Amino acid sequence: MPFRTRYTGLIDKYRDRLPVHDDTRIISLGEGNTPLIRLNNIPRVIGKEVDIYVKFEGLNPTGSFKDRGMTMAVTRAVEEGSKAIICASTGNTSAAAAAYAARAGITAFVLIPEGKIAMGKLAQAMMHGAVVLQIRGNFDAGMRLVKEVAEAAPVTIVNSINPYRLQGQKTAAFEIVEELGRAPDYHCLPVGNAGNITAHWIGYCEYSSGSGDHVTEACTFCKGHCSYAGGAIVGNRPKMIGYQAAGSAPFMRGAMVDDPDTVATAIRIGHPQSWDQAWKVREESGGWFDECTDEEILAAQKLLAQNEGVFCEPASAASLAGALRDVKNGKIPEGSSIVCTLTGNGLKDPDTAISQCRADGTMLTIDATLDAVRDAILKGMEGN
Ligand SMILES: *Cc1c(COP(=O)(O)O)cnc(C)c1O
Repeated sequence: MPFRTRYTGLIDKYRDRLPVHDDTRIISLGEGNTPLIRLNNIPRVIGKEVDIYVKFEGLNPTGSFKDRGMTMAVTRAVEEGSKAIICASTGNTSAAAAAYAARAGITAFVLIPEGKIAMGKLAQAMMHGAVVLQIRGNFDAGMRLVKEVAEAAPVTIVNSINPYRLQGQKTAAFEIVEELGRAPDYHCLPVGNAGNITAHWIGYCEYSSGSGDHVTEACTFCKGHCSYAGGAIVGNRPKMIGYQAAGSAPFMRGAMVDDPDTVATAIRIGHPQSWDQAWKVREESGGWFDECTDEEILAAQKLLAQNEGVFCEPASAASLAGALRDVKNGKIPEGSSIVCTLTGNGLKDPDTAISQCRADGTMLTIDATLDAVRDAILKGMEGN
């Protein structure tokens, strides 16, 4: 076997554990294989001994974990002869759908909530040539419409209700187990539709039940598309913790929320599509749900950027905000290993970042003279 170094995407890497055929034409942009970064400075800042990692999914080709699901969903849609895909989106799904549709040579229709989508995501959907339909309504309204349209028109839904999405997304758990040599004790994720927390649990379960073994009994989560059937547990599985934004927290309320609101637009979802599955994940894993305020989310985003050099989008920071709070209050004991998924890249939402930092004088406007620059440097050094 020649030594092969070229990484060609997660379907190629995990094809024996994914629903693809030998001759399937794979639509890939090299997604997956994202870095698991150990936090060196933040544990010191909070004064706790924890082994905490961030899985930086913002380094996927379109800047979010949605690419993991989209490579699978679009690959299967094309294989099944579909000429168009459709999704409702808070932004990242539309960016991924647009890019993978472009790659495949098919059409993407995306429904986004007018005025509530981060600028980078809108730019992506438009640039990749999707038909962008801004609706005067939120994500949940868009999702309802997409389901109705797909019944009447020859378009494939690529939201996470498409079971292939979760199949692609489960590979993030595979990567983590392979890198750490075991599953972490706790896995923290931001929760919107709750597809990703479900997908991670599928991945951990498959891995812990003997990697790659195909079994015939249908999985309760994915209607027979995965290889997990609750077989013997060989490896460990993490407690799954889902953090929601306080203004958009149906899992905390125990009921759907009709007017969700949060600065973390990617999780501004009041009617989660994977409602039942996520409750089951919580129960089976022994984890929990909790909520973070917008202030906590933005503070964690900045803490991470300024202490570790990692820039994630606001929704992603909910996982870290919640994890740090639960470490501080002892719900997550010291000595634990923790993985926080950073679902999307900070560059997606420059407006929120800039307006947050403007307030604390990070940017100065000075004269173009040596004196002015020298004074500014001296003053800046004092702060350290
Ligand atoms: C989609 C998304 C989420 C939410 O994931 P769900 O699977 O809907 O729970 C969180 N963060 C970012 C950045 C996203 O794009």
